[in-house]
Amino acid sequence: MVDTHQTFVIVGGGLAGAKAAETLRAEGFTGRVILICDERDHPYERPPLSKGYLLGKEERDSVFIHEPAFYAQARIELHLGQPAVHLDPAARTVRLGDGTLIAYDRLLLATGAEPRRLNIPGTGLAGVHHLRRLAHAERLRGVLASLGRENGHLVIAGAGWIGLEVAAAARSYGAEVTIVEPEPTPLHGILGPELGALFTDLHRERGVRFHFGARLTEIVGQDGVVVSVRTDDGEDHPAHDVLAAIGAAPRTALAEQAGLDVVDRADGGGIAVDAALRTSDPYIYAAGDAAAADHPLLDTRLRVEHWANALNGGPAAARAMLGQDISYDRVPYFFSDQYDLGMEYSGYAPPGSYDQVVCRGDVGKREFIAFWLSEGRVLAGMNVNVWDVAEHVQQLIRSAAPLDPERLADPTVPLTSLLP
Ligand SMILES: Cc1cc2nc3c(=O)[nH]c(=O)nc-3n(C[C@H](O)[C@H](O)[C@H](O)COP(=O)(O)OP(=O)(O)OC[C@H]3O[C@@H](n4cnc5c(N)ncnc54)[C@H](O)[C@@H]3O)c2cc1C
Repeated sequence: MVDTHQTFVIVGGGLAGAKAAETLRAEGFTGRVILICDERDHPYERPPLSKGYLLGKEERDSVFIHEPAFYAQARIELHLGQPAVHLDPAARTVRLGDGTLIAYDRLLLATGAEPRRLNIPGTGLAGVHHLRRLAHAERLRGVLASLGRENGHLVIAGAGWIGLEVAAAARSYGAEVTIVEPEPTPLHGILGPELGALFTDLHRERGVRFHFGARLTEIVGQDGVVVSVRTDDGEDHPAHDVLAAIGAAPRTALAEQAGLDVVDRADGGGIAVDAALRTSDPYIYAAGDAAAADHPLLDTRLRVEHWANALNGGPAAARAMLGQDISYDRVPYFFSDQYDLGMEYSGYAPPGSYDQVVCRGDVGKREFIAFWLSEGRVLAGMNVNVWDVAEHVQQLIRSAAPLDPERLADPTVPLTSLLP
C-alpha cells in the first residue's frame, strides 16, 4: 500500500525519469520522490540536439522538460551530477558517487543509453565526436559552424537517424559531408532496402556523399588533429572532424551489478522487464531506452530507443510502481526531420519480418505513406510529409486484420475505412 512514508527513487534524469517523477505526483503520491542523474543539467529532451538546437534555430533553454522551479514545487528531490554507483536489492538501497546511501520502497531504472564507440585507432583525437548529451550538441554546433565557414569536411560513421540528421544540419552550415555505412542503404535495419533509398537520394541531392558497404578502420591524425579516415576497402577520405553515429548501447551496468535479469547484447540488450515494466526484482522497474519490455501486442521482447517510448513508458512505470494494473502495449513510434522532410514511423518491421511494401501517395514528391505488410497485415507504417495519420496507421497495426494492398495503396480510400 502506497503512503506518505514511502520513498520512490528514480535513477536517470532523462525523459523517462522526469516524466515518471511528474506522474507520481500527478497520480497523488505523497511520499518522497528522489530523482538521481549523473548529468548536471536538469532533465532535457534529446531530439532537438540533432535538429533545431544543432541547427541554431532553438535556444538552449527550450530543450528542458520542466522549468527548474517545477521540481521544488512538486517536491521532487534532485541529485544532479551524481551517478548511482551501487544498487543493493536485498537492502533496497542505492549508493551515489559521493557515498550518499538512499533507501527506497520502489526504484525505477531510467538510465537510458550511451553512444557506441568506434573501436579503431584514432578515436582519442580531438576531432572525434559523439552525440547524446547537451554538452555534445553544444560542442558539435560550434564544430559544424566552423566547418561550414572553412569548407571543412565531416565524416559520419553510420547512416542511422542521428547520422542522417547531423548530416542535414552539417550541410545547412555548408560543411562537406561523407557518410560511411556498412549496409547498402541508410537505415537498412529499420526500413529495409526499399525505403532506405529514399534517404540516399534525399541526402545526395543536398550534396552528401555516401560510402556504402564499408567500415572505418582508422582515423588518421597529424599533430593531434584529424586529417582523414580510412575504410576497410582501402580508401582514404579527407576529414577534419568525425562523428561516430553507430548506435547506442543501453546503460545496464547498475542492473547487472545488482543481479537483475538483463537481455544479451546480441539480442539488443537492455534491462529485462515484463509488460508492467517490472524487472526480475519486484520492487524495481525500468523504462525508456534502458528497458527491454515484453510487448503484449507484438508478442516479443523489445527495446525501443525512441522519444515516445520514454515519454509514455516513464509514466506507465510510475503507475505500475503505485500498484496500478499496467500492460504497456503502445505501438512503437518515432519521428525524424531532415531538411524539408518530416516523417513518423509506427510499428516494428525489421527486414525479414515483412513480405510486401505498399506505398500510398506520391513517392517522387516525398509525400506518401509506406506500409510494411506480412500476409496482408500491416506491421509498420511510415508517413512522409503527410500528417495526422500516425494514429490511423497504428490502428491498422493493432487491428492485425489482413487488408487488400490495392485499397491500402489508394489515397482515395480513407484509412479508417480499412479498419475492421
Ligand atoms: C541526438 C538525439 C536525437 C534523437 N532524436 C530522436 C527523434 O527525433 N525521435 C525519436 O523518437 N527519438 C529520438 N532520440 C531518442 C530519444 O531521445 C531517446 O529515446 C530518449 O532520450 C530516451 O530517454 P530515456 O529517459 O530512456 O534515456 P536518456 O535520455 O538517455 O536519459 C537517461 C539519463 O540517465 C542518466 N544515467 C544513466 N545511468 C545513470 C546512473 N547510474 N546514475 C545516474 N544517472 C544515470 C544518463 O546520463 C541520462 O541523463 C534521439 C536521441 C538522441 C541522442
